[in-house]
Amino acid sequence: MADMKLAVVGAAGRMGQALIQAISAIEGATLAGAVERDGSDAIGRDAGEMSGLGRNGVLVTDDPKVAFASADGVLDFTAPAVSVRFAELAASSGLVHVIGTTGFESAQEEAVRTASGRTAIVKSGNMSLGVNLLSVLVKQAARALDAADWDIEVLEMHHRHKVDAPSGTAYLFGEAAAQGRGVDLSESSVRVRDGQTGPRPVGSIGFATLRGGSVVGEHSVVMAGEGEAIELTHRALDRSIFARGAVKAALWARGRQPGLYSMLDVLGISD
Ligand code: NAP
Repeated sequence: MADMKLAVVGAAGRMGQALIQAISAIEGATLAGAVERDGSDAIGRDAGEMSGLGRNGVLVTDDPKVAFASADGVLDFTAPAVSVRFAELAASSGLVHVIGTTGFESAQEEAVRTASGRTAIVKSGNMSLGVNLLSVLVKQAARALDAADWDIEVLEMHHRHKVDAPSGTAYLFGEAAAQGRGVDLSESSVRVRDGQTGPRPVGSIGFATLRGGSVVGEHSVVMAGEGEAIELTHRALDRSIFARGAVKAALWARGRQPGLYSMLDVLGISD
């Protein structure tokens, strides 16, 4: 089969550059286009050179229609409102859409779901193998431990530039814990604590957020009981783990039926 041609949107971003590097390293994938927002300094630059690879002849454009015209799929780590627009565009062109963007409001989630009626979309708050495997373990542990006796807290730390909190990965772990317990995360989560909070609500799933420096991403799910605690931890040492996962997701989704898929589907792991 011919290589899958991929367009990267948000090409000059931290993940955009990691995606361009991953595409060049993975067999079966070729960079077909690179898109940045209107007015970005990156417009007109060579995407390979910009990503430290040397020239590859793909110039960064602010016109997604041009970049999508010759592509089979779109890799998108941008911002929620931007990803919703690209989901509509990718769906109307029948392109596979891999969404790594985090921080969606529920109406934006719904818009992505609607677009997935017309094309295959893979969306995940974390594209790494390690995090997705750990989410399966979190679900199993939450199922095994009685909510009345065991408190679950999700702790995360990211670099100082991150704009949403808690992280998409923290929600992914919170969701896994909630599924394990058979509860709705939106009704049982405590996302922020400040001042006179009162005692911890029984059965709640708490979140705590740290920001600083250049930390790529660290997550711990703490399950604390009387006299003992379990910690399940993942450390991302390099952005390439997310980028490689995203390219793998695009190759997996090629030719699939329209639908909204997760990285658990791509990796073939579930409990
Ligand atoms: P970033 O460095 O800010 O990159 C985002 C890029 O998108 C920027 O270059 C931005 O340009 C560009 N952009 C904004 N509007 C655009 C538009 N209309 N068209 C094209 N490009 C546009 O952020 P990042 O660290 O790469 O993270 C991006 C997203 O991915 C975040 O939501 C983050 O949480 C998520 N993420 C997910 C995973 C995962 O595994 N799922 C892993 C890491 C990060 P300007 O800066 O010029 O506005």
